[in-house]
Amino acid sequence: MVSAAVMDNAAPVRDKTTLSLPAYWHPDLLGFIKQPLLRELVEGFAGPLHLVFPTRFADNVRAFQSALSAAGVNGQILFAKKANKARCFAAAAADLGIGIDVASAGELREAVGAGIPGAHIGVSGPAKGDALLRLALHHGSLIAIDAADELERLANLSRTLGKPARILLRLRPNSQPKSRFGVEETALPQLFDYCRNQEEWLRLEGLSFHLSGYDPQARCNEAGRLISHALTARSLGLPVHWLDIGGGFSVSYADASSWRDFITSHGPDDYHAGKRFGGFYPYHSAAPGAAMLTQLLAAIPVGAAASLATLLNRHELGLILEPGRALLDQAGCSVFSVLGVKDRTGERDDYGIVTVDGTSLSLSEQWFDSEFLPDPLLLPRHTTPAAPFRACIGGASCLDSDMLSWRKIAFPQRPAPGDLLVYPNTAGYQMDSNESPFHELPLPTKLVIRTEGAGPRWQVDRPG
Ligand SMILES: *Cc1c(COP(=O)(O)O)cnc(C)c1O
Repeated sequence: MVSAAVMDNAAPVRDKTTLSLPAYWHPDLLGFIKQPLLRELVEGFAGPLHLVFPTRFADNVRAFQSALSAAGVNGQILFAKKANKARCFAAAAADLGIGIDVASAGELREAVGAGIPGAHIGVSGPAKGDALLRLALHHGSLIAIDAADELERLANLSRTLGKPARILLRLRPNSQPKSRFGVEETALPQLFDYCRNQEEWLRLEGLSFHLSGYDPQARCNEAGRLISHALTARSLGLPVHWLDIGGGFSVSYADASSWRDFITSHGPDDYHAGKRFGGFYPYHSAAPGAAMLTQLLAAIPVGAAASLATLLNRHELGLILEPGRALLDQAGCSVFSVLGVKDRTGERDDYGIVTVDGTSLSLSEQWFDSEFLPDPLLLPRHTTPAAPFRACIGGASCLDSDMLSWRKIAFPQRPAPGDLLVYPNTAGYQMDSNESPFHELPLPTKLVIRTEGAGPRWQVDRPG
């Protein structure tokens, strides 16, 4: 989730009040949060809100589908469900005819409940429990095998239930030797043998990998390596016809120059308590989402003589992809209310500590030795004459480390109780992967917003 850190201590001289990272806002989201309806919803639900926009999710899915068809590749998209729990996205996936990638029995149940046919469900994750494998077998889902003992356990379960298993073998990427996921290349001959011996119960449909990082060429090289293993498997009589390249399609949260300016000029002094971080997500990407898929398909795997798209078609291999974050680009934002503001005298500057009515558990990046950097928007109850004010954002808990933003955000005016603070583009991983009702604080309500047609409409995401 986090890329190389850049913390530049020798920052150029800069007006402290202006360090900012303005986020991209889709006009539908920006238009919605600027309406008086937002305050009514905040008051009506009496707590933080996550707003989710399934139409934006659908736009992103269509962009991926167009990239596949433009490259003439037979592809299947599985939305990586762990990136957001909202039911509306699973339902949108079903309506758009794409599948879902799950890693637990709960996620599988959610996917089926949302209308995803079992055959369009991919099951990943390490050492999957028998309860999950059993569900996957009954639904005819595609199971990505992570280890030899798991494969054996699955074969036994398939035999017991009389249900053949559809499987992929997940490889540990060469470029990520420290990853705990996947099997080593050297184990493949034995696993292929095992599948052949158990062909009544194990149907090896393909090979898979999932890379962290956002380099299209690295993915392309890994895919090239998998193609040669797929051909080997086929020559042994195994019915391999899918290549699953996982997720990891980037999202661009801010424009190139804002990101460059930010990353080259910030320093520990810009963060409350001089906080340092292990690294940051690359908040700008020149070719995010579907554009990255286009690049990847046009790239030539190292050692090959044709593009990935050409190789896939030549060998009649379909491509499975499992984007999570990229399908959620601009599909949500998170709204908190300011409870209080106090002044703080720093070593080098004065700033404020704003406390909001939620916690950093609703902004997961804060829990990965990192910070969610795109600027939150202040929606003041009353506009006062512009008087720039820097403040970090703390949560309503008793943990010193519960900070939604360690950074001293440059606000156009001093926040005040009752003002709203809206974090941009939070649907991908930020909003709900770490949430818990810590302190008996209410979890943010998730509202599904639709802005098309006559006026905006809202609905609670999980009414039942
Ligand atoms: C998390 C995960 C994904 C999704 O990754 P993104 O970076 O959100 O696209 C896809 N596949 C697997 C196996 C994963 O663990």
